[in-house]
Amino acid sequence: SVWTAHEGWSPLRLGPHAALCLSPAAVGLHYGQAVFEGLKAHRGADGTVGVFRPEDHAARMADSARRLSMPPVPGDMFLRAVDLLVAADQDALPSDPGLSLYLRPLLFASEANLALRPAREYTFVLIAFVTGGFFADGPEPVPVWVSSRYTRATPGGTGGVKFAGNYAPTYLAQEEALRAGCRQVVWLDSQERRWVEELGGMNLFFVRGSGSGAHVVTPPLGGTLLPGVTRDSLLRLAARLGYEPREERIAVDQWRDECAAGTITETFASGTAAVVTPVGTVRYGEEEWKVGTGGAGPVTLALRDALIDAQTGGSRSPEGWVRTVAPR
Ligand code: PMP
Repeated sequence: SVWTAHEGWSPLRLGPHAALCLSPAAVGLHYGQAVFEGLKAHRGADGTVGVFRPEDHAARMADSARRLSMPPVPGDMFLRAVDLLVAADQDALPSDPGLSLYLRPLLFASEANLALRPAREYTFVLIAFVTGGFFADGPEPVPVWVSSRYTRATPGGTGGVKFAGNYAPTYLAQEEALRAGCRQVVWLDSQERRWVEELGGMNLFFVRGSGSGAHVVTPPLGGTLLPGVTRDSLLRLAARLGYEPREERIAVDQWRDECAAGTITETFASGTAAVVTPVGTVRYGEEEWKVGTGGAGPVTLALRDALIDAQTGGSRSPEGWVRTVAPR
């Protein structure tokens, strides 16, 4: 669908995946006026296909659009686009529980104009593809690398929304992480370079203690980290499983010391693509430490199971998190 200042949104159109025709002067290409989302449809145990929390992704995309001075895609239009595409593509999704249909909505400025002001024409597209887990090896722990040189988000910036330009500046750090034998970058706050914020395209959680009294801790949002839909789901599921969910800042040196002391027993990352992925070891400058045993901990695995069950299991409806798409 295309939005213009004169006519608002054009009707949604379903078509085969094809190249877009775009002016080389399109605002989105030059000044990065573009926001996106990432959400998934799963085939449930009952064979139906359901999309996980699409209303929340629509709301976040509207917040992202407003931050970038773009017209938000109306929630009902976002949901109609999701329904249309998932209905058309659902037969491509096998019943293999490891596979899902990844949906990528994108809103970008398509007006041809080089003036430095918000564009007057925008294009909203939604594409889909079948995907496995982000980490093909499932709940295998990943080694992570703390970036001390680069930061991802500044107070008052765009770190709290899904702005396209948040991502390319992270590649350089990601390359350094890979060279150091790690898989992902841990981002610290940009002011003190001390507070743990996020992991690549994922939120981070820490487990204090063990057993049913364990605390499940994640950094508070505060505007510089993305309010993950998975993060919110896990905070709710943690409470349901009898753990104590907490939003609390964790400094990188505290993370190291608490791992050594055994008070932090597990760390994991969460996201639509990553689901729940345990963190095994941490590299920070010359230092390296192991989280817990370095393997996937029991609280991490319990939360991962609960999340997958909420997305695909027989109990997936109670929270109203899954929007089932009518079979064709
Ligand atoms: N942080 C960042 C920077 C991300 O890109 C993502 C992926 N959208 C997340 C966290 C996790 O968010 P969600 O659980 O909504 O996928």
